[in-house]
Amino acid sequence: VSNPYRTSENYGVGKVGRVSAGIGRRNLRIVVTGGAGFVGSHLVDKLLARGDNVIVIDNFFTGRKENVMHHFGNPRFELIRHDVVEPILLEVDQIYHLACPASPVHYKYNPIKTIISFYTVIMILDCDYKTNVVGTLNMLGLAKRIGARFLLTSTSEVYGDPLEHPQKETYWGNVNPIGVRSCYDEGKRTAETLTMDYHRGAGVEVRIARIFNTYGPRMCIDDGRVVSNFVAQAIRNQPLTVYGDGKQTRSFQYVSDLVFHRSSSYIFVVRVLPTYFFVISGWDICLAFVLLTSWRNSRIASVAGEEWGRAVHKFYMMNLVMSVDGLVALMEGEHVGPFNLGNPGEFTMLELAEVVKDTIDSSATIEFKPNTADDPHKRKPDITKAKDLLNWEPKISLREGLPLMVTDFQRRILSEEEGKGL
Ligand code: NAD
Ligand code: UDP
Ligand code: UDP
Repeated sequence: VSNPYRTSENYGVGKVGRVSAGIGRRNLRIVVTGGAGFVGSHLVDKLLARGDNVIVIDNFFTGRKENVMHHFGNPRFELIRHDVVEPILLEVDQIYHLACPASPVHYKYNPIKTIISFYTVIMILDCDYKTNVVGTLNMLGLAKRIGARFLLTSTSEVYGDPLEHPQKETYWGNVNPIGVRSCYDEGKRTAETLTMDYHRGAGVEVRIARIFNTYGPRMCIDDGRVVSNFVAQAIRNQPLTVYGDGKQTRSFQYVSDLVFHRSSSYIFVVRVLPTYFFVISGWDICLAFVLLTSWRNSRIASVAGEEWGRAVHKFYMMNLVMSVDGLVALMEGEHVGPFNLGNPGEFTMLELAEVVKDTIDSSATIEFKPNTADDPHKRKPDITKAKDLLNWEPKISLREGLPLMVTDFQRRILSEEEGKGL
């Protein structure tokens, strides 16, 4: 069985060779479980764009074919309808294990399945813990058999209602083991345990990401998460539902920061007109800039500053789609983790509602509703470790990121309403 990480022949020195994303890199065979979901489908776009072969495993519990159907017909893409709580035989180089209902509404709907994705013994109960325990066990078993590297998308929920703020990876958390959220929190904690046990006991190459609240295009519209709820409510002219007093905090990360990461190691200051300077960071942005300037050199000298600013912004956004991914950086780096991957910008839910109002509809109203049980009071990642060891940090602020999901939501809500004859 081929294993690119154990052959120095393909990837240079050491037991675990680093897979370079540059020229001469061999295309990999990669499984993405949960690849038809929100985060997974963006990851699939990224992996296919860089030339890899991708197999998506998804049972479509919360995922949608629409998220990946633009790849149908691509010979390097395969979609398998399969539940990860059942064993599966495949031959691949890397496994990104994302399959798991991630919104409280969905995982509370089927709590046993959420957690059992971690424990075979509970499989008969068919629930959400199940996906996290049995599903992870199966994917680790698969990784062990074929010598693939395995990445678990864990969550900030492993910190529960945290007593340490901001949360570092060294914090062990404060989770209610018998609460309504625990199928997810404890499920992911068990998944982390299994992952480390397969690493220590069976020598499986593993990586653990603890993802903080992420938003962006392709989120499930009615999955109950706060960003998707507020955005959909503002578009539908409904009141924004704030649970509790709205003073609880979260830190929101735009999906491109998680899935597409721009290296900040290289900074270029570019003089465009005598009075305009732009700071450009990252090799690929620089490349885009050089191509642009050499392509239309004569015109660039004559564009107005404002126009040019817009052009640079557009290139910056396009560039996100071409650059290196935070999860991929973790998969291909040398560190097991866990790593917090999130945006440290912290907002109360009332502040979030204000940003949504400013972005979509300033006349939107707020409706207070009772909060759910065991809701964490505050959450904010300490990302020092990811910055130091992965050279990763988020770039898109909430005010920049929210507008980027609005068009997608407007289109889907409109087609839903048309479908219902509204
Ligand atoms: P999502 O619900 O959009 O995607 C999950 C995908 O997994 C869906 O396509 C779903 O159909 C699939 N799935 C669920 N159970 C399955 C099973 N038993 N077998 C096969 N497929 C199954 O959620 P997301 O936001 O894209 O989250 C992806 C991963 O990232 C999850 O593991 C989640 O726990 C983690 N995460 C997400 C966030 C976030 O804010 N989005 C935060 C922390 C962690
Ligand atoms: N597994 C799988 N695909 C594989 C190898 C294993 O789905 O290619 C599943 C297997 O069915 C088992 C789990 O992964 O339920 C753990 O496998 P492992 O070999 O570690 O444990 P064992 O089967 O020895 O209990
Ligand atoms: N929330 C809210 N209104 C909503 C949905 C959620 O005020 O319509 C609150 C929820 O009580 C929680 C926060 O927003 O305090 C984040 O909830 P979400 O489900 O998005 O993420 P998680 O709790 O898993 O971090």
